[in-house]
Amino acid sequence: MEHKRSDEKERKLQNDDLIVVTGAGGFIGGNLAKYFHEKGFTRIRGVDKKPLDQWYSHVPGVENLCLDCSKEDACEFICDGAAEVYNLAADMGGMGFIERFRVECLRSVLINTHMIEAAYRAGARRYFFSSSACAYNVSLQQDPNVRALKESDAYPAMAERGYGWEKLISEMFCQEYWAERGLKSFIARFHNVYGPHGTWDGGREKAPAAICRKVLEAIDNNSNTIGIWGDGTQTRSFMYIEDCVKGIDMIMHCDELIAKPINLGSSELVSINELVSKVERIAGVGLARQYDLTAPRGVGGRNSDNTFIKQVLGWEPNTSLDVGLRHTYEWIKEQYYHRKQGKLVVA
Ligand code: NAD
Repeated sequence: MEHKRSDEKERKLQNDDLIVVTGAGGFIGGNLAKYFHEKGFTRIRGVDKKPLDQWYSHVPGVENLCLDCSKEDACEFICDGAAEVYNLAADMGGMGFIERFRVECLRSVLINTHMIEAAYRAGARRYFFSSSACAYNVSLQQDPNVRALKESDAYPAMAERGYGWEKLISEMFCQEYWAERGLKSFIARFHNVYGPHGTWDGGREKAPAAICRKVLEAIDNNSNTIGIWGDGTQTRSFMYIEDCVKGIDMIMHCDELIAKPINLGSSELVSINELVSKVERIAGVGLARQYDLTAPRGVGGRNSDNTFIKQVLGWEPNTSLDVGLRHTYEWIKEQYYHRKQGKLVVA
């Protein structure tokens, strides 16, 4: 039987305390490692199971470990000496991936299960888990004119099959590690994150990156057409990566949020058709649209209710989609043409 930690006064995080970021070869983990490095932290351990040459970012001064966080012994090694642990590792992708590969998504439960136990045993002071808006009850998300989702909408539970249920059960692990063992855990439910240094091709990419790439392909191939999954009326909100990493830091260091799931997302709702129009405007083109009604389209609509985050943190993600998309388009354009010239890029 494990004992609950005593609630002794916590030492403030120092710049040379060890910060662990899993999923550091991926989109959000890589950007988070960079964020902490730029904030002046000198001991950051990034971990990912992908070979190093497939990581999106290699942040100078960050210790990069290529290890599988679904293995118990690896997690012990990873968490050794950690003051704070940020678990961003998961087998995931956009709708095309999470609807087809539910087993892979469910198996990510092993990552959080072993990481949180290892963090607790290593004496880490704080633990962060990256949950998702897919944890919300899907019956509330059928209509494109959705009511934005608030934190209490996860229960009664009817999460996205596979991916969403894994997030819900992992959230519960975090809450019980706090309740029974006194590990300060923090849970953010991300709503669609986009930006540079993320997946833009290969099947795991999400809508903003996929649309940027498809617009680039249409220009490059002179096809003047773009394929859209579903009828384009489905609505979503999209959070720019800089807001995401700032929000993670704020949530992790707010004691009012211990073991309380909180939305971390933009509340700027757009349809997929509007998203395409925005990218067309950035690229300076107008394309014919071909709708694929057999492709995965996800729920009818989803938006983030930011009442709680504004109340607790006095802040919400606020980079406009027009600004964030411009940066994202420019980065994907660079990657696209680098790959065409035969340069090594990670898609
Ligand atoms: P990503 O796919 O770019 O990064 C995840 C990384 O985890 C990948 O590099 C992958 O190789 C790594 N990984 C997978 N299994 C692993 C394992 N067993 N051991 C070590 N590394 C492993 O995804 P992301 O967009 O950066 O997502 C990060 C987190 O945020 C995930 O938990 C994801 O579910 C969550 N999230 C993301 C979004 C989004 O829009 N990007 C939305 C909601 C939730």
